[in-house]
This record gives sequence, C-alpha cells and structure tokens, in this order.
Amino acid sequence: MATTEDSADLTEECDECGQQTPHDVSVEILTESRKRENAEFSREPYRVSECLVCNTTTKLRMNNA
Ligand SMILES: [Zn+2]
Repeated sequence: MATTEDSADLTEECDECGQQTPHDVSVEILTESRKRENAEFSREPYRVSECLVCNTTTKLRMNNA
C-alpha cells in the first residue's frame, strides 16, 4: 500500500493560539466507521495540520459529502 503523505510547513490561524502560527500540514487517509445498518468502512482523506507552537492537531475532512 502506498502512503501518500506530503508534508509542508505553512502558516495558519490557530484557534488555540489565537494567531497565525507555523503548522505542519499533511494529508492522511483515515478509515472511518459509520455505524449504520451496514458496518461500512470508508476511507477519507483528511488534512491534518499540527500547530508547532501548542501542538494542537486539527483534522479536516477534505471530502465534505
Ligand atoms: Zn497553536
């Protein structure tokens, strides 16, 4: 399985810090389990950004279906 993970340092607004801080941003494919009738697992790309100041990790789903 290929791991597509690209990483870049970006400056973004951090809610915890309340200001623009450097972030380590990467994309991860996370497996979600949806508890519905069918236990269906879907893999969704998430944009993971970690504040390098307070180490808060924010995961943002990229496919907003
Ligand atoms: Zn922060």
